[in-house]
This record gives sequence, C-alpha cells and structure tokens, in this order.
Amino acid sequence: MNNRQVVLVQRPVGMIDETTTALKEVPIPECGVNEALIKVGIVSIDPTIRTWMNDAPGYLPAIEIGDVIRAGGTGVVVESKTDRYNVGDIVYGMTNWQEWVIASEHNRFTVVPSGMGVDLPTVMNVLGTTGLTAYFGLLDVGQFKEGDVVVVSGAAGATGSVVGQIAKARGASKVVGIAGGPEKCAEVVEKYGFDECLDYREERLSQRIRAACPKGVDLYFDNVGGEILDAVLVNIAMNARIVLCGAISQYNAMERPKGIANTSMMIMRRGRMQGFIVFDFASRYGEAQVELATMVLDGRIAHQEHLVQGLEHAPDALNLLFTGGNHGKTLVVVDESVTLS
Ligand code: NAP
Repeated sequence: MNNRQVVLVQRPVGMIDETTTALKEVPIPECGVNEALIKVGIVSIDPTIRTWMNDAPGYLPAIEIGDVIRAGGTGVVVESKTDRYNVGDIVYGMTNWQEWVIASEHNRFTVVPSGMGVDLPTVMNVLGTTGLTAYFGLLDVGQFKEGDVVVVSGAAGATGSVVGQIAKARGASKVVGIAGGPEKCAEVVEKYGFDECLDYREERLSQRIRAACPKGVDLYFDNVGGEILDAVLVNIAMNARIVLCGAISQYNAMERPKGIANTSMMIMRRGRMQGFIVFDFASRYGEAQVELATMVLDGRIAHQEHLVQGLEHAPDALNLLFTGGNHGKTLVVVDESVTLS
C-alpha cells in the first residue's frame, strides 16, 4: 500500500485547475523513535491554501513546487513510538493533503477527546480553525459589545455563520449577513438565525446596508475584502470596529488587488480596523472550544459540513470556496473509517 498525496505542480494564476496539482504515490512513511504514524481521515479545505500556492509574502512560507499541499486535518494513530499518542487516538493537526502522515517533534498533533457528543466533521468545523477564528475575531479583535449592530460577510460560510450566531447569543441588537444569492441568504436567516441577509450580487449594496443598519454598523467582520468592505465602510457608526479576517474576493485576483476608497470614514467615525491570524490565539483555544461545544450541544450554534469524498477531489473542493458552491465548512473525506466515538 502506498501513500497518495496531492502535490503542487505549478503556481496558479486565478482559479486553480488540472495543471496546478497532481496526485502522486510514495511509500507510506516509516514511524521513527518519538514519532507516530497517522492514517488521515478528513482534510480541511480553507481559502488560505490558495494564498499559500502563490510565491508571495504571507504569514507562512509559500508551498514549494513538488511539495504536498499544506492543510489541517484529522486522523487516527495506527503506530506510536512516543508517550504523546496512543494507538487509536484521534488527532488534529497538519496532515496536509495525503493519506498518511508522521507526527513528530516538528509536526505535533492534538489528541481530540472522545465522548464530547459531537462528530469529527463538527470538531473540524465549529471547534476547528474556522470556529475559533469566528470566536476570537469577534470577541477579542472586534471587542464585541452587547447591543452592537454587527455585519458579517461570507455569512453562509464556515467562519461567518459562527460569527453571527455568537453575536446573536451574546446580545447583538442586530446581526446582518452578506452572502451570494437568494439561496445562501435564506440559509443565513433561516438556518443560522441572522436578522437579515443582503445579497452582494444585487445592485446598490451600500444603500441596502444603510437601510438595514440606519444607525450605522458598530462591528463589521470582514471575510471577503474588496468592494464589499468598501460598501460597509461608508456605513460605519461612531467608534466602529472592523475585523479584517479574510479577503477571499482577492485571493484569485488576476490583476492588482482592489484598493479601498472609503478609508476617510475611519477618520470621521473614529473607527478601528485590525487584521489577525487565528494562530495568534493558540494558547487560548481550549477556553473557546469549551464554550463553542456547549453552544453546539445546546443548539445555539447550528452548523453544516460540506463533505467531498476522496482525496483526489481536494482541488475541486478548494475551488468550491471561490465559486460559492460550498454550503458550510468544506471538508474532504480521505478515509471514512476514521471516526470519533
Ligand atoms: P467559507 O466562508 O466557508 O467559504 C468561502 C465563501 O466565500 C464562499 O462560500 C463564498 O460565499 C464566499 N466568496 C467567495 N468568493 C467571493 C467573492 N468574490 N466575494 C464575496 N464572497 C465570496 O470559508 P471559510 O474557511 O469560512 O473562510 C472565510 C474567510 O475567512 C476567508 O477569507 C478566509 O481566508 C478567512 N479566514 C481567516 C482566518 C484567519 O486566521 N484570519 C482563519 C480562517 C479563515 P457566497 O456563496 O456567499 O459568495
């Protein structure tokens, strides 16, 4: 048996296609001293993977040509030569897009506790990177306050849907989502309980934001950047906080990134705009996971996972994030026998 991997063959321009990655087979890695061998169960599909394919400055180095595509994921320990993991442990960490991975001192994994009452896809969604991003982005970076009028873009997605639900649970006076198309907007209101959702594909977004938030936007959680950020900026309230979480509208840009025209509103409204990377909060993941798990179990956080079967479909799954073809957190099931008890 071999280890199938998806490797980077060519740096993409725009959307990735069949020339960007290739499937490769290599021997399953040997488990050395102080290491464990992990059979990968599910890999995460995140917009940031597209940014790592560019040879451009980022918060992590670019993926090199020939390297396995970098990604988070979960798996089961099948062999262990370290006290850190037991055979049978379900673990979470950087699996990358492949079927087998070694846990070592340089690539540490976290053991996922069993008996939490949630399944593995939920762990990778609400309790994983995107749920944690929502939690720390809203509460710490955004300094959310009870009574805030909150606007969230990418509202039907993994991060945005959780942002809006935490804001509602914590007493926002209004939570308005922004998403692409009537079906996504209906999902945002009906499934995730936002007060309203605006379709960015329709005309006059900034006027519709003004109508939805006549006293202004206190907190904008930005997942998309570009023109949508600009449309919200003209509607910010006094002392508004803008959380720069993601700029997905720009990740595939073939031209220069679109600038923001309305920064003068930050001056007039004494606004604050701050970017962050969820890893900044790694030492506090535990506290957030306890609260997020409680909210899932008591029904305050609704969630859905968009499961794509088969490692070979990981590149297509990545493209779903850019066409809006995903509904909820996008995950690729590499081996469905890996589950959480
Ligand atoms: P997601 O929201 O589940 O999926 C991406 C969504 O983005 C798509 O479903 C699509 O929704 C929307 N989208 C794609 N192209 C767009 C465009 N041109 N204009 C407007 N919307 C567009 O993905 P996610 O993993 O939760 O990530 C959401 C954002 O958070 C990304 O920008 C990501 O980079 C960022 N993020 C940041 C951190 C951090 O540490 N700062 C961590 C995780 C994620 P529609 O169908 O509604 O268009």
